[in-house]
Amino acid sequence: MKRILLFSMAALLAAMFGKLLVCGAEPHEQNLAMASAINQHGAACADRHQASPHSRILIVIDPGHGGSDPGTHGPNGVDEKTVTLAVARDLAPLLKHHHVRFILTRDRDKYVSLRRRVAIANRNHAALFVSLHCDEYSHHQMHGFTVIYAQGASTDSRQAARLIAKGLERKHFYLHAVRAEVRHLYVLDNTNCPAVLVEMGFMSDPGDLRYLCSIRGQHRLAEGIADGIVDYVHAMHKAS
Ligand SMILES: [Zn+2]
Repeated sequence: MKRILLFSMAALLAAMFGKLLVCGAEPHEQNLAMASAINQHGAACADRHQASPHSRILIVIDPGHGGSDPGTHGPNGVDEKTVTLAVARDLAPLLKHHHVRFILTRDRDKYVSLRRRVAIANRNHAALFVSLHCDEYSHHQMHGFTVIYAQGASTDSRQAARLIAKGLERKHFYLHAVRAEVRHLYVLDNTNCPAVLVEMGFMSDPGDLRYLCSIRGQHRLAEGIADGIVDYVHAMHKAS
């Protein structure tokens, strides 16, 4: 009886461990954020085992800031790190629904270095890196979302930026700009895959702040971004 029990437990552990490896989550300290994200949402694992048309494409969702780095904040005291995480968490089931494999660079309020965020994308040969942020501007009443790619970025990065912008516009968000970034942004400059940074709105604008801080607004943002990502994945499949 004991032997059978031990064997069953060993088989169970092997199955669990094997499943993690299949998902690309190496048992490595630097991949803990990714592994916990996969465990929590189960999306990457679940989708990998389905005969999905998108099974080989992996998207990295990067909720900006976290832990000791709050990012910017609105006059209501809400931190950027809280908004970016909320939208990323809303994105997870939407991508899963469309059979898109993904990894979150963080799934809780935790500091993750820019280097580690980039390493997660590069080690896993991601097809697209999408970093989520919020803008602020103290002098003028700027509003709307902005999708940024690196100066000299690939046509794939530009296409991803355009498609995500279209997705957000379809959800009736105001487009501030789709543009190349003149400054050097670490995550855009160092990812091997196409990469975009979505500034989802200005925390300095009362109208934007309302949707950035509401559950409904955050969900609508996630829907728009997910639509753009799904369109990008479809375009990749058509091209291959
Ligand atoms: Zn930011």
